[in-house]
Amino acid sequence: MFKVKTLAVAATAVMAWCTAFGATPKYVFLFIGDGMSVPQRMTAEEFSRKSGAGSLAMNALPFSAMTRTCSADSLVTDSAAAATAIACGAKTKNHYSGVDPDGKPVYSSAVAAKKAGVKVGIVTTVTITHATPAGFYAHRNNRGDAYGISIDLADSGFDFFAGGGLDVSPKNSTNHVQYAKCGDAYEYVRSKGYKIVETKDQFLALKPGDGKVFTKFTNSALEYTIDADGSQPTLAEMVAKAAEMLDGDSGFFIMAEGGRVDWAGHANDAATNLRDVLALDAAVKVALEFQDKHPDDTLVVVTGDHETGGMSMGFAGTGYALYMDRLVNQTMSVGKFSEKVDAAFRAKPDLSFDDVKPIIAEAFGFKFEGDAKKDGMVLTEAELKGIVAAFDHDVKFHKSKIEENSKYDGEKRYLLGGECRVVMSHKCGIGWSSGAHTAMPVLTTAKGRCAEQFTGFIENTDISRIMKAFYE
Ligand SMILES: [Zn+2]
Repeated sequence: MFKVKTLAVAATAVMAWCTAFGATPKYVFLFIGDGMSVPQRMTAEEFSRKSGAGSLAMNALPFSAMTRTCSADSLVTDSAAAATAIACGAKTKNHYSGVDPDGKPVYSSAVAAKKAGVKVGIVTTVTITHATPAGFYAHRNNRGDAYGISIDLADSGFDFFAGGGLDVSPKNSTNHVQYAKCGDAYEYVRSKGYKIVETKDQFLALKPGDGKVFTKFTNSALEYTIDADGSQPTLAEMVAKAAEMLDGDSGFFIMAEGGRVDWAGHANDAATNLRDVLALDAAVKVALEFQDKHPDDTLVVVTGDHETGGMSMGFAGTGYALYMDRLVNQTMSVGKFSEKVDAAFRAKPDLSFDDVKPIIAEAFGFKFEGDAKKDGMVLTEAELKGIVAAFDHDVKFHKSKIEENSKYDGEKRYLLGGECRVVMSHKCGIGWSSGAHTAMPVLTTAKGRCAEQFTGFIENTDISRIMKAFYE
C-alpha cells in the first residue's frame, strides 16, 4: 500500500510540474490506432525489421503505459465508448458517443483545448463521423446517427477536419426524417464557415490563414493503404497539413486516427492490417519531426482504442516459427481481391479455377507449382484443397444469384477471399480468435513534454484526465 501511495503522490507531483506555468505542452499530437493493441503493433514491428526498415517509431517512444479499455457495460468495448473514454474521460455504454451512461453530454480534451484558445484538428482515415473522431466533438447515444454527429461536428467550431466524408446515407441514418436532411449536412458544415476541400491537390495547396477546413475526398472511408492509388492523401500527409495549418502562438491539439487498422482486424486480413499500422507510424514520424523543431513544448502520444481480431503471433501450423516476410507477397486487401473475383465472374459466368489462379497469385503471391517444403509460398495439398473447395462453392453460389437475378451481396457469401486470407495468415504463423473486438489492453506510448505521465497500468480515461489538465 505504501508503494502505491508513494507512486500516486509522485504522479501528482509530476502533473503539478507539467501543468505549472509554461510547462504544459503547447503542441499535442494524440494518435489512435483503431483496433491496435500489442499484436498489431508487433506484427508491423517485426515485418518492418524483417524488411530492413527497423523499429516502428511509435514503439520506440520512451514512455509507455499498459492501458485498460473496458466500457461501462462490457469488458469488450466498442469504438464509441472507447473514444468517449480516451477523449472525455468518462466510461460509457457501448455505442454511446460523447455522453455518459445516462445520455448526458461529457466533454473532450479537444473541447477543453478549444475553450482555452488552442487550435484543434481532427484527422482520420475513415469517415469523419466515425466513432473515434466523434468521441472528440459529438454527443449522441447512437454512434450510427451520422446526421446528428455531422451537426455536432459543424457546431464544434474545431479548426481542421480531414479524412473520409460525413457518411450521411440511409444505412447510417437512424430514420427517414434524418435521411431527408442528409443532403443538407455538407451545406450545414459549409454554413458554419468551413472551406470544403474535395481533392488531394486542393488539400495539399492549403495554406495557413485559409480558415476552417473540412475535407470531402469521399463520402465514406479512405482507401486501405495497401489498395491506395495515390489519389487520396495519406494519414502522414494529413497530419503534416494539420500541423502546418494550425501552428501559431496559441498552439494546437491534433487527434489523428488510423481507423482502418480496425477494419482489417475485423476482416482478419494481416497484411492489410499491418500496412495501415505502418501508415499510422509514418504519421507519427511527422509528429516527431515537428517535435524535433519544438522539443520543449510538444507532446506525442500513441495509443489504441481496443484490440480487434484476437490477433496472435504464433500458430499451431508453424510451431516455433514466424514468417513475417511472407506478408510482403500480399498486394491488395481481401476486400479488393473479392471485388476482382466478382468482376471476373461477371465477365465470364463459367469461370474456371484456372481462370482465377492468376488473380490469386497476384493478390497473395501463392504458387501452384513447386515444393512447399522449400518455398513457403507454394500451396500445400491441404491448402490448395481448401481454396478449390471455396471456389467451387462460389461458382454454385454465383450461378444461384444469376438464376435469382439478384445482386452481388458482399464477400461474406463468397468464400474464396476468406479462404485465401486464412491460408495467408497460417503461412505466416498469425492466428485470429475473433472477427470482433477483444478485451486485451492496449499500449500507450509517449514522448516529450509531460510524457512521463504515461507510465504503469492506466485506464483509457486517464489519457483524457492527463490531457484536460493541460487546458483546465
Ligand atoms: Zn475501435
